[in-house]
Amino acid sequence: MNEFELIYEVIAPTSCRRDDVVLGIGDDGAVLAPPPGQSLVVVADTLVAGRHFPPGFPAADIGYRAAAVNLSDIAAMGATPLWATLALTLPASDTDWVRGFAAGLADALRPAATALVGGDTTRGPLTVTVQIIGSLPPGTALTRAGARPGDLVYVSGTPGDAAAGLAAWPPPSAPSATLAHLVARFTRPTPRLALGVALRSLASSCIDVSDGLLADAGHLAARSGCAIELDAARLPLSAALREACDAPTALRHALTGGDDYELCFTVPPSALPRLAALADVGMPPLACIGRVHAGAGVRVLDPHGRALEFARPGFDHFGGADEREHSGPMME
Ligand code: ADP
Ligand code: MG
Repeated sequence: MNEFELIYEVIAPTSCRRDDVVLGIGDDGAVLAPPPGQSLVVVADTLVAGRHFPPGFPAADIGYRAAAVNLSDIAAMGATPLWATLALTLPASDTDWVRGFAAGLADALRPAATALVGGDTTRGPLTVTVQIIGSLPPGTALTRAGARPGDLVYVSGTPGDAAAGLAAWPPPSAPSATLAHLVARFTRPTPRLALGVALRSLASSCIDVSDGLLADAGHLAARSGCAIELDAARLPLSAALREACDAPTALRHALTGGDDYELCFTVPPSALPRLAALADVGMPPLACIGRVHAGAGVRVLDPHGRALEFARPGFDHFGGADEREHSGPMME
């Protein structure tokens, strides 16, 4: 297939329709009708073969992740996604590969009702850039900068699973249910879009966990001008993670592994009752993992209140943790 057949016959048909797309794929630019009175939120992320996904990673999972990591940024802002563009650089015109890729992309964009409205297709080393435009009411964006001393730190889901899945890549042809679950947390992360919207009126700061909980909590602390203290014992480690890894490795994955695409956020004590009420409306599990203090930086405390030491990307306090096993998150 030539470039135009790939665009019009393989990629474009996978997009969902939206009434606010005045002119989609097929012209020199897309024409979009923003929701009246809303602010727009724009995000973009690039995936490079070998750097952001391992060799042999399925085309459909590359497509899914390219969209999901951007939807996760939209979620972390508290926005609702509307439209996406796709810049695709391919080493060859491989129709089957593009078909799989486009199906995976649609697996992520369709549940988020996000329309693919344009892009670019070129030849070169495999590289995928997705941009997503979302919207929210003016003045309601969640940022990294609003944490205050006294706030509590929360995380959604079970961080560490994706890193454990990546560490097991490539999975065996017949993986155990546990391993299959962990690998799926890496290949098919769930953008926490409904949670992001719900947190708009609750959280004082928010970030999505792409680099690792410790690094991303560090971004909240730095942008907010505060210190964050995390309790290692309160990290919500999944049963799968604890089954697949020894305790130090599980903790290391949860704190420094990255690729979780969960939300890490801070909440003032006054908002805790409303946060608790979210459990009743189908949100992912939320765990309180620490506190915000005056000061700077992130500390992780053991159950005795002693600070644990880390050296990114490895986690060297517990001894026996092999720093070569995982060289940092696949996404940056
Ligand atoms: P131009 O030459 O004006 O850049 P192109 O021929 O590159 O236009 O693209 C034709 C149409 O297809 C445009 O509407 C463009 O947005 C869209 N398009 C190109 N590549 C992609 C892609 N990978 N995904 C989605 N839309 C694409
Ligand atoms: Mg072009």
